[in-house]
Amino acid sequence: MAKIEDFNFNGKKAIVRVDFNVPLDENGNITDDTRIRGALPTLKKILADGGSLIIMSHMGKPKGKVNPKLSLSQIKDAVAKALGTDVKFAPDCAKASEAAAELKPGEVLLLENLRFYPEEEGKPVGIDKNDPAYDDAKKAMKEAQKDFAKTLASYADVYVNDAFGTAHRRHASTAVIADYFDKQDKMLGYLMEKEVNAVDNILKNIQRPFTAIMGGSKVSTKIGIIENLMDKVDNLILCGGMTYTFAKAQGGKIGDSICENDKLDLALNIIKMAKEKNVNLVLGTDCVAADAFSNDANTQICQNNNIPDGWEGVDAGPDSVIAFRDVIVPAKTILWNGPAGVFEFDNFAKGSKAIADAIVEATANGAFSLVGGGDSVACVNKFGLADKVSYVSTGGGALLEAIEGKTLPGVAAVAE
Ligand code: AMP
Repeated sequence: MAKIEDFNFNGKKAIVRVDFNVPLDENGNITDDTRIRGALPTLKKILADGGSLIIMSHMGKPKGKVNPKLSLSQIKDAVAKALGTDVKFAPDCAKASEAAAELKPGEVLLLENLRFYPEEEGKPVGIDKNDPAYDDAKKAMKEAQKDFAKTLASYADVYVNDAFGTAHRRHASTAVIADYFDKQDKMLGYLMEKEVNAVDNILKNIQRPFTAIMGGSKVSTKIGIIENLMDKVDNLILCGGMTYTFAKAQGGKIGDSICENDKLDLALNIIKMAKEKNVNLVLGTDCVAADAFSNDANTQICQNNNIPDGWEGVDAGPDSVIAFRDVIVPAKTILWNGPAGVFEFDNFAKGSKAIADAIVEATANGAFSLVGGGDSVACVNKFGLADKVSYVSTGGGALLEAIEGKTLPGVAAVAE
C-alpha cells in the first residue's frame, strides 16, 4: 500500500472518499463541521503537491434516490472556504467524466451524493429479502456496483480513502473502487491512518494496565467487543444501562431500571468469562435512582441490587465512581465507549463526567486513551475534554467493528 506522506500528487488527479455526512439544519446550514475539518490535511496535501482533487462522499440515507435535501451542493461553499479555493460541483456523480477531465492542478471538483445511486451501497432496492427473485437481484446489483465503481475510478489516477466512518462497509466508493487502481496508486488518507493507528495502539501495542470502559444502554450491542476485549484487558468496567441487566441476573431487585430480560444468561456468562480469563470486572455497586426519566426527577442513591419499584437507575453512584477511578487513573491504555448514565440530562451526567475526568488524569500521566463510538464522543465534547484525551475517534460502527477485531473492508481494499 502506498503512503500518503510519501506520495507526490503533482500533476495527478486524485479521487478522495471523505465522510462529509455533516449534520444540516432545516435551512441546509452545517451545524457541526468536524467531519470537513477532519479531512483537510489529506485534501490540502494533494492540492499543495500540485494535484487536482475529486471529492466524493455520501450524505444521509437517500436510499438510492435523488433527494435535494441531501444534496452535497449545500456544503460546496463551506468546503471551498475550508480549502481556501473554489470548488466546482458535479450534479451527477456518475456523469462527471468531462468535469473531471477538465480539472487543472490545484482545482477541486465535488461530486453529488454517492448514495443517490443504489449502486453505491450495492443493495437491491424495491425487492423484499424473502422474494424468490432477491438473490438474482442481488447478483445483478453487485455487477452494477462494479460498473459504478469503475466509472468513479475512471475520473482519476489515484484513489485515497479518508472516510473512516464508512470503512466497515464494502461500498462502491469505499472498497470496490480500489480494484481499479494499481497498488502504488491507492492509499489511506491521513485521518484514516490516524484512526487505524489508534485502534492498533489499543489492540496491538498495549501498555499495561489496560482498562476498558463499556457503557451505554444495552449489553447486547456491545457483546462482540466485550468478548474480544476479554483476551486483552486487565480491567473491564461495565456501566450505564447494562448495569441493571447484570444486577438482575445476579438476583438483584432493580425496580424500573432498563433491563434486557433475554440477556440475563449472557450477563452471567460475561461474569464467568472474566473470572476464567483473570480480568478484573468492575460492575459498580450503587447508582443514582430517579422516580422519572427526567432531569427534574427526584433522586436517591441505591444499591444496584436493591432499587425500589417506581425508581430506575440513571447514573453511577458515588461508590461506583470511586471503584471506576481506582482502575482508570493508574491505567496506561484506556478505551472508553458508552456513557455511565443518562448523560444527556445534566443531573445524571456525574458518573460519565467522573470517568472522563479520570481518563484525562491518566492521559496526563502518560496513558494512551481512545474515546470513540457515538455517545462517549458526545460526552467528552459536552464536558469540553476532547483535547485532553489521546484520541477521539470519528468512527461509530467502524471503530466498534475494528475493536471487535474485524477487518475493515475500506482499509483492506487499499492494502490488497
Ligand atoms: P449506546 O447507544 O448503547 O452506547 O447507549 C447510549 C445511551 O445510553 C445514551 O443515550 C444514554 O442516555 C443511555 N443510558 C446510559 N445509562 C442509562 C441508564 N441507566 N438508563 C437508561 N439509559 C441509559
